[in-house]
Amino acid sequence: MTSEPKPVCMSIMAHPDDAEFSSTGALLTWINEGYDAYICVITDASAGGSDDATDLSLAARQVTIDTRKQEQAEAGRILGLKGVIHLDYPDGRLYPTLQLRKDIVRVLRTYKPSRLICQSPERFWGTPLGIARYHPDHIAAGTAVLAAAYPASQNPWDFPELMTEEGLLPHKVRELYIVGSPMPNIGIDIEAVFDQKLAALHAHASQVGAVNAELDKRMHDWAVELGERFGLPKAEIFHKTENL
Ligand SMILES: [Zn+2]
Repeated sequence: MTSEPKPVCMSIMAHPDDAEFSSTGALLTWINEGYDAYICVITDASAGGSDDATDLSLAARQVTIDTRKQEQAEAGRILGLKGVIHLDYPDGRLYPTLQLRKDIVRVLRTYKPSRLICQSPERFWGTPLGIARYHPDHIAAGTAVLAAAYPASQNPWDFPELMTEEGLLPHKVRELYIVGSPMPNIGIDIEAVFDQKLAALHAHASQVGAVNAELDKRMHDWAVELGERFGLPKAEIFHKTENL
């Protein structure tokens, strides 16, 4: 007897820890509703070493890549993800190329998420979303993911070799949740999963520290502030759009 496959949700973002900051509360909520969840990290995170570094060699970069992959794996374990996917594009040099779009389409057709979270291709200049929220890699990632989700993933004529050579059939992403959008239209209640979200964020110890009370307070205050906009105790907020 075969059981029905679980619905799938996925976050595709530029760097390790992007999802943990912005949207793993939503992933955890959907896991609790019965979804399988994945995080796809587009870059290799090789530019995420110390700001005070003087050794900028390839070997030093490789140490950062290895460390951040281990941290992402640990965050995935804490979150209860079904898997973590790395596309290993060079960090800090991301562009929304056709090759990137194709690589994301391959992920979408392979894992078949019906719910997809991505970064905003547009900046919002109001507070509290400052310039750091809009790393150029984030904007490139948002542009590429949206272009992959529609229409390329669902259109057999886009990247036909994915079907003819790799056997990957078209897949339609039904719901898109965009973080950092100028026009958020939905809040997701993360009160019940907030501590788990925070624990996963701390798995990225090289970036945020394994213990960081100041960060914990900032994340708490941010979740409360976002929740107030939608009448929720703590929230992550998104621009949700449906692909009917
Ligand atoms: Zn980032």
